[in-house]
Amino acid sequence: MDYKDLADVIFPDVKDISYYEEKYPVRNLEEGAIVSRFAPSPTGFVHIGGLYQALIARKMANQTNGVFFLRVEDTDQKREVENGVSGIVNSLKDFDMAPDEGMIDEENETGAYGPYKQSLRKEIYRAYAKYMVSMGKAYPCFCTSDEVEQIRNKQESAKIRPGYYGVWAKCRNVTVEEAINRIKNGESYIVRFKSQGREDRKIKHHDVIKGNIDFPENDQDIVIIKADGLPTYHFAHAVDDHLMGTTHVIRSDEWLSSVPLHLQLFHELGFKAPKYAHISPIMKEENGGKRKLSKRKDPEAAVSYYAEVGIPADAVKEYLLNIANSTFENWRKQNPNMPMEEFELQLNKMSVSGALFDMVKLLDISKRVISKYSAEKVYNEGIAWADKYDKNLKTILEKDKDYTLQVLGIERGNEKPRKDIAKWSDLKENIIYMYDEEFLNKPQQYEFQKINDKQEINKIITTYIEKYFNIEDDKETWFNKIKDLSEECGYARETKEYKQNPDAYKGHVGDISTVIRICLTGRANTPDMYEIMKVLGEKSVIERLKKAI
Ligand code: GLU
Repeated sequence: MDYKDLADVIFPDVKDISYYEEKYPVRNLEEGAIVSRFAPSPTGFVHIGGLYQALIARKMANQTNGVFFLRVEDTDQKREVENGVSGIVNSLKDFDMAPDEGMIDEENETGAYGPYKQSLRKEIYRAYAKYMVSMGKAYPCFCTSDEVEQIRNKQESAKIRPGYYGVWAKCRNVTVEEAINRIKNGESYIVRFKSQGREDRKIKHHDVIKGNIDFPENDQDIVIIKADGLPTYHFAHAVDDHLMGTTHVIRSDEWLSSVPLHLQLFHELGFKAPKYAHISPIMKEENGGKRKLSKRKDPEAAVSYYAEVGIPADAVKEYLLNIANSTFENWRKQNPNMPMEEFELQLNKMSVSGALFDMVKLLDISKRVISKYSAEKVYNEGIAWADKYDKNLKTILEKDKDYTLQVLGIERGNEKPRKDIAKWSDLKENIIYMYDEEFLNKPQQYEFQKINDKQEINKIITTYIEKYFNIEDDKETWFNKIKDLSEECGYARETKEYKQNPDAYKGHVGDISTVIRICLTGRANTPDMYEIMKVLGEKSVIERLKKAI
């Protein structure tokens, strides 16, 4: 009896691997095209670090006319949650990163290299495991979990490297005859890889991101098929990425130390190994140190957070590109209006250690991204957000669409657009004062600044209404009139004049403008006041000014 007989006893009913090799032919792509994938477990939570990996993988495929696919890794069925796949699919869609192949919802998929859900690939893994057993490269292991635990305890107390390897790998020397007998007697078993590696030998690995690294060879006889018949991550990775034609495995660097094992599996299976690009995690600063962004502690670790606070997906993606390649920032400065898709991402320029997550920077980018939106786009995105998270805002925005578009159009679509909105949850605060029913009908707290004497304010505003305000004025005339008003009230027409001779004036035109602005809007900082008045219209401007006095 030989290994083939053993393989037949363990896997009596699987297809020969030649069937799968033919079914999934080598992809017909241009030289240099990258096939990459996102391979999350459906645990119900998409981490920003996962989105980051997916973005890099998606982009590398785009840049090379390659393929990006989504594979769901659900072989650890304890960790699975209901609708976990939809969560992942929708996150990718929300970020405009839908895959070319793979799962498209909970059940369905597209693409010729599927199934793209590992739990549906059991027969495939079994075929390749059989192939390994038939070559003597894998074997059934009958050790119970208690026995494995005992081995570990012995190793620990003797301070020896833990694991199932070398002399500790009891079952690797079980003869074919004995193994077949034990299986026929109904003993339970799992399937292990028979490693030919030696810990005292080194392999050289070139990681696309991390560079050259020497590792000790893998000598562990790792499990390839578990008791539930499903493969371990390691084995599924080799089989899937081979059959699916992955050229670049772009994944988290928590897997870096598994590279020797993975290369060994590819080699023993007779597969060409992919290139590996291990991405450093996104870090957070804490008490002067750095730690990984944590699902438990940091709300911003969840991709859903960004939708909730209303940071546009484009902004999050731009920020992630910023983290990915430090050259992005400069590129953006030089190409302020180019779609980010035009930026050439370079894997080998990614940082080797983890980048710090910087919310201030993200919000800054978001302000810039939103500043480029048309009023119509702000309107649509704002409503979509408000529909889910702020019904009152939705009512306000929708009540008079034309008016809202004018409000949102203030200082937009010009050379230096307004940059006061970083997220949709800021929108209300930034525009609410433009609505009479919100502003006039509610009590306002006017926090006056330099000019804060009530009588003085009354005089300024009354004079302005009576002598100078005219909604028809063009901007220059309008501003000249504010200067005239300043002069009449004893304030310098120009800031410069005031600075040269401060004792001659009560203040300057800027102080007068601030008083009008506060009376008009209830705040000291707003976009352009002339545009605001134009949008409010004569009646509202006068009512507001009168209300203030
Ligand atoms: N399912 C693995 C994970 O979520 C995938 C790693 C990989 O991309 O190969 O960590």
